[in-house]
Parts: sequence; C-alpha cells; structure tokens
Amino acid sequence: MAAYDNDNIFAKILRGDMPCHKVYEDTETFAFMDIMPRGEGHCLVIPKAAARNILDVEANDLASVIATTQRLSKAVVKAFDADGVTIHQFNEPAGGQLVYHLHFHIIPRFEGIKLKPHSGDMEDPEILKANAEKIRQAL
Ligand code: AMP
Repeated sequence: MAAYDNDNIFAKILRGDMPCHKVYEDTETFAFMDIMPRGEGHCLVIPKAAARNILDVEANDLASVIATTQRLSKAVVKAFDADGVTIHQFNEPAGGQLVYHLHFHIIPRFEGIKLKPHSGDMEDPEILKANAEKIRQAL
C-alpha cells in the first residue's frame, strides 16, 4: 500500500489550505459537505490523524470517526427529514477510493430516490452552504 500523502485534498482542507463547507469538528474528527453530492445533504467525516484508509488507520482514530459518523447520520436524518441514511467507505483504487485520506460518506436517503453517480456534478456552493447550516442546526 502507498504511503500517506500529506498533499491529498482532505489533508489540505484539514490544514485550511483548501476551502470546504464545514459541518462539525472535535479534537479527533472533522466533517464537511461533499462537493459532488450523490444526494441532498451528502457529507464526509474524516479523522484529523493522517490515515490513508481503513487499512492503516489507528483503531482509536477509527472509533472516533465512527462515533462522529453516527452523530452526523442522526443529524442529517433530522435536518432533511430523511427516510434513511447510506454510509459508504472506499479503500484503495480497486476498492473505489479516489481521495487518499480516510473518509466515511453519509448520504441521507428518501424513498424512491436513487443515488446520483459517484463524483458526478459539482453542487452549487450556495446550496452546499445552506445544507451545511441545516445539518449544524440539527446537531
Ligand atoms: P472516494 O475516495 O471514492 O470516497 O471519493 C472521494 C469523494 O470526495 C467524492 O465523493 C468527491 O465528490 C469528494 N470530494 C472530492 N474533492 C472534494 C472537495 N474538495 N471537497 C469535498 N468533497 C470532495
């Protein structure tokens, strides 16, 4: 497995070198809106620790990310009055991973509405901003 790359996009977001629509932060984890959402309210949870994916993350950092993923899952269901929530997590190119800093996708789901393609269209920043605010209010 390749080494962790300090210049991956999510490392830059964590350092504040790249903008994002932040949803939540604590000492171990950070959450923000996915810029190419597969559905309304699609957000991402990452550890602050450097971890490429589930294969190299420390167990305590993974536990923190999962706890935040549960917290955010409840928040998105409340914020968007969703019928369910889908969690995705990809590892290595063969596993579908495109950004090499561990992340969990949280996607609110609605009866009868299919997911849009993975890494499809960029969302309007104003919509991402409004959705981030909705989720923050529901936390
Ligand atoms: P994957 O590594 O397969 O889980 O895919 C990376 C995910 O990150 C995709 O859902 C992208 O839409 C998302 N993404 C890529 N760049 C950014 C960014 N700058 N801010 C927020 N989400 C991003």
